Amino acid sequence: MNLFETSRQVTVLGAGMVGVSCALALQAKGWRVTLVDQQAPGEETSHGNAGVLSRSSLLPFNRPGLWQSLPSLLLRQGSHLKIRPSAITHWQWLWRFLWHAKRSSFEVTTVALDGLIQLSSDTHRAWLKRAHVENRLRDTGWLWPYAHTDAFKSGAASREVLQEFGVATEVLNAPALRALEPHLAPSFSHALWVKDAASVDNPRAVVKAYAAQFLEAGGQWVQSKVSVLQQRPSGWQWVDQAGSAHWTPHVVVALGPWSESLLEASQVTANFKVNMGFERGYHRHFQTVEGVSLGRPIYDLSGAYVLSPMKDEQGQDVLRLTTGVELAARDAAPNLQQLESAENSARRVLPMKSAVPHSDWLGSRPTTPDSRPVIGEVPNAPGLWLAFGHQHIGFSTGPGTGVLLSELMSREATSIDPRPFAPDRFEALF
Ligand SMILES: Cc1cc2nc3c(=O)[nH]c(=O)nc-3n(C[C@H](O)[C@H](O)[C@H](O)COP(=O)(O)OP(=O)(O)OC[C@H]3O[C@@H](n4cnc5c(N)ncnc54)[C@H](O)[C@@H]3O)c2cc1C
Repeated sequence: MNLFETSRQVTVLGAGMVGVSCALALQAKGWRVTLVDQQAPGEETSHGNAGVLSRSSLLPFNRPGLWQSLPSLLLRQGSHLKIRPSAITHWQWLWRFLWHAKRSSFEVTTVALDGLIQLSSDTHRAWLKRAHVENRLRDTGWLWPYAHTDAFKSGAASREVLQEFGVATEVLNAPALRALEPHLAPSFSHALWVKDAASVDNPRAVVKAYAAQFLEAGGQWVQSKVSVLQQRPSGWQWVDQAGSAHWTPHVVVALGPWSESLLEASQVTANFKVNMGFERGYHRHFQTVEGVSLGRPIYDLSGAYVLSPMKDEQGQDVLRLTTGVELAARDAAPNLQQLESAENSARRVLPMKSAVPHSDWLGSRPTTPDSRPVIGEVPNAPGLWLAFGHQHIGFSTGPGTGVLLSELMSREATSIDPRPFAPDRFEALF
């Protein structure tokens, strides 16, 4: 192996949407890539999500106006935000997250996320085709229905931002909504149809199809828990579950909600701390009633859920109900209260059969204080690259992350501005 070949060798830790995307994009640039995960690809957060790919996701949760709406978010029955006592474990994230709910952060974040979302959308489309799973993508947008005119009015600021960014939307009145989604109960006065959006019918299957592409093109796969990461002269060493050490000149940490835990346990990043938070969310599947369907996911803000039409592993139609945010310690025991409340709300707007047995799932959206993922090389740690912190949109923005990271690692001009995602923004806070 010559020197050039050695320097273009990389190990990607984590095979969720983000890690698999990094592996695919690096491989496309001629890197020799090893992908490592303790499970098969796509079994964690990248499996359980709502499968939405939308330009409207440029709006972070911590935006101007969050402070004013906090009392109602915290006190309202059935709110899409629940705070549990164990959330205290990530209070450092919480106060920073709230501090970023201001105009100056919002302006940087919305532009940055929009760039990443658009790059990801183009890349997803190319990869879905290459992996022969383009049939899993539905170009039907997604819907935000509102029960009252007042609720619709309260979304005006968000709609204005979407308009500024040129995101295609249409406001529907009750009859127009009924024409688009005839099976929804007639309880909504308005809806916003976000047309610059698509969705997939099985997120796990998409990650697995991308991973299969990676293997087919000669990528290496190791299934093992990574216990520790250590810096070595001219590279990095990761230790597998059997205690064996593996050397690599470059390593990408793409472990989603577990990324910072590994960095901390390994003590490889002095003077650098992201302070990640965990926005937990649940899902439950329901069998569909014959003749009743949804053409696209709906995001019912007042009911605090997203309902997405999906296919299960046997190809059967199911409805996946996903909940809003539960702030709690990442590994705290599940509390099904939010899921039950979301189910009650959803049943009022669409007939659904019983829940699919054993379908309940809990995952953590990995969120940085400024709602922008961390993509790039850690300062003063050459060869240690990060790709994590994708909050509510990591399924959709994994591919753009992979492309950007592969460009940075190959020292090429980048498709989007990398600075808003650079790890060095977390250096000064420590
Ligand atoms: C309820 C809910 C709904 C969502 N809806 C959407 C949506 O509609 N659209 C969207 O774009 N995003 C959505 N998201 C967010 C999205 O799912 C995440 O941002 C994304 O999946 C994160 O991907 P990831 O690859 O970073 O993490 P993950 O998919 O969690 O992958 C991390 C991987 O690391 C592995 N791992 C962890 N520790 C170790 C270790 N020590 N050794 C080896 N392997 C390890 C895990 O096994 C896992 O495979 C939603 C999230 C939730 C919770």
